[in-house]
Amino acid sequence: MSDYLAEFTPPHRILMGPGPSGVNHRVLQAMAAPLLGHLDPVFLGVMRDVREMLLRVFRTSNDLTLAVPGTGSAAMEAALCNTIEPGDHAVIAVNGYFGGRMADVAARCGAEVHTVNFPWGTPVGPDLTALEDEVKRHPRVKVVGMVHAETSTGVLSPLKDVAGLAHRHGALLIADAVTSLGGEELDVDGWDVDVCYSGTQKCLGGPPGLSPITVGERAVRAFSGRETRVQSFYLDLGLLRTYWSDVPAYHHTAPISLVYALREGLRLVMEEGLEARIRRHAVNAAALRAGLEALGFELFAQPGYRLNPLTTVRVPDGIDEASVRRALLTDYGIEIGAGLGETAGRVWRVGLMGDSSKEENVLAFLSALERILGAGEYEVAQGAGVAAAQRSLAS
Ligand code: PLP
Repeated sequence: MSDYLAEFTPPHRILMGPGPSGVNHRVLQAMAAPLLGHLDPVFLGVMRDVREMLLRVFRTSNDLTLAVPGTGSAAMEAALCNTIEPGDHAVIAVNGYFGGRMADVAARCGAEVHTVNFPWGTPVGPDLTALEDEVKRHPRVKVVGMVHAETSTGVLSPLKDVAGLAHRHGALLIADAVTSLGGEELDVDGWDVDVCYSGTQKCLGGPPGLSPITVGERAVRAFSGRETRVQSFYLDLGLLRTYWSDVPAYHHTAPISLVYALREGLRLVMEEGLEARIRRHAVNAAALRAGLEALGFELFAQPGYRLNPLTTVRVPDGIDEASVRRALLTDYGIEIGAGLGETAGRVWRVGLMGDSSKEENVLAFLSALERILGAGEYEVAQGAGVAAAQRSLAS
């Protein structure tokens, strides 16, 4: 029987999986603040602050920019269900698990979905011929969808050219930036992305539970030209927009503490500076990769397209990948992720996102990995990973 009357204190963990990532103590403290009503003018001020800062991290002036209640999948559903009407054609570029989820959600919205597959571990592009041919093959494609940072494979795909492709054919580009916002370059206005969404629990350094989204004018026009109502009341961006406007009306009871947390997480982003934060993610990822390669590991993602917030590493033959993850967690308090979909059992996913993207985490992880592997059959040069990471950090 579980001891449900006992007080719960979570163990200390270093969160280096695919999310959630570690949360700064200021964000945790923000969540402990007393609740306000969801239409209290002071709380509406908090929402305004969040919106202002989201505009800056998305690098956009889109009026329709807000945080959807729910995790990243909620914003994915919102992006697709507000755009698609039954019978619309959607072309989704799939280079990993989350591209597949996008296709699934688009089909549930009633779209005729056409997927264009890119090998896992490679980006969407740079050769976009197959994608463009697929868009041309169908009459009036409404949506082109893709994942900017594919968390199942650790690959970053350029968005700008796909935006151009979509617009040449009168379609909208919906981009999933769940694992890139706040940790990789992302320029919604500069790249002309029509709908872009994210999640709070990765590079923005918050707890899971809200999903920022921004929608450009082209997509807003498409929403207003709909013949049918958005089938989801909860995720109807027209209704959500009214709640986030200067004259708000009740739509749902906002998750007050999560909005406080997002405000504080974004404040930390502003204090650090977006560019500096992106650079921090790059520096720590480079050190991690150097350490892993010095230990003889092979990285999974194609060079040139490797994601900084998440590194995928091939599990060498003869290693029981689950037992290594278990030892990291139980003996060292370090969480990393297993593969997902096609990469299940074949890779480890090591996250360095938001507050978790730290030198000390890189070094602790590499040193724990050396110890665990050194104690088993697998030969590793003890200290080589840590030394390579240190050289990379010092360079
Ligand atoms: N898209 C990507 C690229 C993701 O990595 C994730 C989650 O890891 C999601 C969507 C779904 O987000 P959530 O699990 O927060 O619902």
